[in-house]
Amino acid sequence: MSVEAAVSAQSAACLKAPVGLLAELTHRCPLQCPYCSNPLALEGVAGELSTEAWLDVLAQAAELGVLQLHLSGGEPTVRRDLEDIVAQAAKVGLYSNLITAAVLLTRERLERLAAHGLDHVQISLQDTQAANADRIAHYQNGHARKLEAAGWVRALGLPLTLNAPIHRQNISSLAQFIDLAERLGAQRLEVAHVQYYGWALRNRAALMPTREQVLRSAELVARARARLKGILVIDFVVPDYYARRPKPCMGGWGRGIINITPSGKVLPCHAAETLPGLAFDNVRDRPLRDIWLGSQAFQKYRGTDWMREPCRSCEFREQDWGGCRCQAFAFTGAADLADPACNKSSFHNAFADVARQEAASEAPAFVFRSPRAAAR
Ligand code: SF4
Ligand code: SF4
Repeated sequence: MSVEAAVSAQSAACLKAPVGLLAELTHRCPLQCPYCSNPLALEGVAGELSTEAWLDVLAQAAELGVLQLHLSGGEPTVRRDLEDIVAQAAKVGLYSNLITAAVLLTRERLERLAAHGLDHVQISLQDTQAANADRIAHYQNGHARKLEAAGWVRALGLPLTLNAPIHRQNISSLAQFIDLAERLGAQRLEVAHVQYYGWALRNRAALMPTREQVLRSAELVARARARLKGILVIDFVVPDYYARRPKPCMGGWGRGIINITPSGKVLPCHAAETLPGLAFDNVRDRPLRDIWLGSQAFQKYRGTDWMREPCRSCEFREQDWGGCRCQAFAFTGAADLADPACNKSSFHNAFADVARQEAASEAPAFVFRSPRAAAR
């Protein structure tokens, strides 16, 4: 289909520009978090886009209307050309957010990145207790380095977000996460119950909290939000398995976010490669604008035409867009069914039962994220 034909086939709601670009600069990472959202089949360094290719992609993204650039991975600071990429973002007018595990950062590197125009830093933490944090990341002394890096971020006057992926093996530290964010002078704390894709799905039984723990965490966050209003913004992401309605995954398929993998594949979401029957274009072969507007993968689940019942006639279909396609496929075997997180899905009760059973069982050992584990 030509780009023009594809455009004319779009509903007006889908024609808006993407707001955000998630640039997975690499899948290399020194940490091995068992809930990592990277695919099990990690991309190797040999296939990574060159500096020039990334600079061109950022120029194309700005032209397309993207506003925010999330520099992610893997660990984006392993790329020696990160300064060039940040400088290009500033030059073409993209707000740049560095999403980092921070264990490889030095104060000098951070100063250089700030001098090249970096706008924001997001640091992920595994726990507030150093021993447990390092155990979960499978990396010694990582927690101490993260705290040091967070201090540099604030000392350089950059805004700081802390990201706290929450699961059964750190949920008891939630109050301490909030205290720590306040102490470090973060502007934002993401209390993000783990979403079960990629490595997290592989480790689901080791990560799943109980419903009671989730409810208590919601109450704790609500109290902290009231207490810290105007000081700290706290985002709260609930686990789908205990929800009654799904989230509008990525704000709706092909509606606001573009994800580019280290090798240049353009995805509507980071887990989209788990779905069958999708053809992903690569920025090496096709302009980003054409891919956004007309590629088969972006068109497939955009809007509402693809929906089956109960979504097709549901009053919420343009609010949550049927939830997550990857979760629907992973649990039901059909990507065009309602997300099983929805209580209108015939799979909903079985979905919730899985969580109940796994949370009530003894946690198995983690399968840590690594190329070797992926190969196994
Ligand atoms: S979640 Fe952990 S392993 Fe995955 S990229 Fe982030 S820091 Fe690395
Ligand atoms: S039936 Fe579909 S559109 Fe309606 S709430 Fe459930 S997932 Fe959303």
